[in-house]
Amino acid sequence: MKVISIQVPPAVEHRPANQLRIAGVTRFTTIDFPGFLSAVVFLKGCPWKCLYCQNPELQLKEFSENEEAVSWDYLENFLKKRIGLIDGVVFSGGEPLTDPALYEAVQTAKKLGYKIGLHTAGMYPHQLREILPFLDWVGLDIKAPLLERDLYEKVVGKRVHIEKVEESLDDLLESGIPFEVRTTAHPDYLSEEQLLALAMQLKERGVREYALQIYREPPMHTQEHPLPRVGSDYPSNEVLKQLESSFDKFTLRRP
Ligand code: SF4
Repeated sequence: MKVISIQVPPAVEHRPANQLRIAGVTRFTTIDFPGFLSAVVFLKGCPWKCLYCQNPELQLKEFSENEEAVSWDYLENFLKKRIGLIDGVVFSGGEPLTDPALYEAVQTAKKLGYKIGLHTAGMYPHQLREILPFLDWVGLDIKAPLLERDLYEKVVGKRVHIEKVEESLDDLLESGIPFEVRTTAHPDYLSEEQLLALAMQLKERGVREYALQIYREPPMHTQEHPLPRVGSDYPSNEVLKQLESSFDKFTLRRP
């Protein structure tokens, strides 16, 4: 008899919310969760090292001697006091899906009545699938055209399983949850042709909201050779028009 072995994905480890690795909390924002007044919770840990990472100190999971973790008690009390004053909580990072306590933290915030937003780069589809039913909005970073592995790895500074990012995108599209795909762009690593190729891939898959974030220099102490400042002619008006006409909502963010 032929024995067929089925690969079952490993169960995601969950830890109590009080083990959440909180590096900081923005108490009030109008721009990180479209349509909602929110708090943003920044979590430690990200496996990538993007060329433009604005929070490189969040890449390490561990807190350094100079960093002070925010306690779960502080965050929970803060959220209890803000009921009725803010609408949502956005979990950001770092890559929040690296944190095994995220699932429990999301449950707690949801039970308090908050809308939940998530910023992710999509490298953990299994973890994303687990919390999708509790999310109200997602900002998904897609760093480069999905068919260009070398370029993707150049931008994120690590080996990448692009299939996982694609899986996250497909799950989001199927879920019906509102989400924005965003790309941080610089002409030195993303030509206008590549930018349009990425936009067309996203459009063909069914993405309706897209944001282009023009490269902003990362903190000086973290980059030996930061890329030059981007001129206002990148991308060209022609490319911007094509992007605008490709999506229901297109946003350009310049530094
Ligand atoms: S995925 Fe985000 S947090 Fe991680 S290195 Fe890239 S920009 Fe930084």
